Amino acid sequence: MKEEKTEAARLKEQLFRKNEPFQKTCTAEEDAAADAFCEGYKRFITEAKTERECAAWIKAAAESHGFVPFDPAAQYSAGDKVYLLQRNKAVILCVIGSADLCEGTRIVASHIDAPRLDLKPTPLYEQDELAYFKTHYYGGIRKYQWAAIPLSLHGVFVKKDGATVTVRIGEDAGDPQYVITDLLPHLAKEQSQRTLADGIKGEELNLLIGSRPFKADDESELVKLNILKLLNEKYGVTEDDFLSAELEIVPAFPAVDIGFDRSMIGAYGHDDRVCAYPAMEALFALDGTPTHTCLAVLTDKEEIGSMGNTGLESAYLRDFIADLAAMQGVPLRRVLHNSRCLSADVNAGFDPTFPQVHDKHNAAFLNHGAVITKYTGARGKSGTSDANAEFLSQIRAAFDAEGVCWQIGEMGKVDEGGGGTVAMFLANMDIEVVDLGVPVLSMHAPFELVAKADVYSTFKACLALYHN
Ligand code: MN
Ligand code: MN
Repeated sequence: MKEEKTEAARLKEQLFRKNEPFQKTCTAEEDAAADAFCEGYKRFITEAKTERECAAWIKAAAESHGFVPFDPAAQYSAGDKVYLLQRNKAVILCVIGSADLCEGTRIVASHIDAPRLDLKPTPLYEQDELAYFKTHYYGGIRKYQWAAIPLSLHGVFVKKDGATVTVRIGEDAGDPQYVITDLLPHLAKEQSQRTLADGIKGEELNLLIGSRPFKADDESELVKLNILKLLNEKYGVTEDDFLSAELEIVPAFPAVDIGFDRSMIGAYGHDDRVCAYPAMEALFALDGTPTHTCLAVLTDKEEIGSMGNTGLESAYLRDFIADLAAMQGVPLRRVLHNSRCLSADVNAGFDPTFPQVHDKHNAAFLNHGAVITKYTGARGKSGTSDANAEFLSQIRAAFDAEGVCWQIGEMGKVDEGGGGTVAMFLANMDIEVVDLGVPVLSMHAPFELVAKADVYSTFKACLALYHN
């Protein structure tokens, strides 16, 4: 005989919010689709490790899906697909919708820059017969994590005549790699007394790049000379050319499955390519012409506050939408006011090894889907866009209607720390915006961790925004 449910059980089912993992609610097909989706994602982050490489990769992918370079002087009609490449470091992808632009756009904004080490303008030096590059870290890194791991060099020299030389060393089989050295424990008595923040100091992030002298003659700096000779032979550059270069040091390892069950992905730069890739793929996956004009904004400079003319503090997104508005002869402010945006960025996943930094009632859990973050900021919600309840109502209705697995979470306990995203810059333009993205473990480490189910759920969340 079937046991009757107690009244409490019935009421609980009716009144309590369910926060179930993806695997409990998804179909077998969806589980397989999530794994397949992540194979494409793993290729993307293994091949594109800097904002320039991501921008080039996204441009090529867009072109293969029929997107053409945006021409502000052209007239576009519903279904047309265009892209804007912003100074080689950010991309706007856009599909023109059938509705009047006054009804607003649908935007997913993610960033394609990630914490890393940049070369200083005068990087090359020789010390005690070893050659090094001086570096200056970009974004919030824990410096001690960058020593004693294999590193690769990516970027460009732009020579005085304007010619660009692209550099990518340490990724292909047979390539040399580079390393920042650390002390052996036997001699680390003093260093071990330092705080973790100072374990490796900023000026100790020196990249070892060579040890072989040019020749055993009487000149000084022969190891440095040998390095410059090699660079000159391969790239035609001299020491002066470092002045007009952007060279970035990133981890040399590829994206890999983590766990016996292969449920997770370990890689460099999940933050925020793990949202940029779903944003782009969701736009590519749109079936036919969308109602609203849909944008994927893959931006730069988020990790240093979105400043600079490839970051979202600058005018480039507003100007792009202004060009669209002018084309249809509608006021820009109407378009912006009625636009909806997911600021697709990662949040901290709950880490059972470090539970003390989270409020478990308001933390994001791996495999529980894309996480909505109503506000970021620090202390008393300082420096954030706190999403409107009216907008969150529309978003949760859209997600539930499209079967998106989602959760809601804060970044850690109140007063534990904090962070920010691009949401506030979009909000400042009078766009409705909320943060949504993938929970990450070891965020900003050289090797970050995400769950495949959450990556796929973020893709479905982006699709739901474009559809609604
Ligand atoms: Mn981010
Ligand atoms: Mn970040």
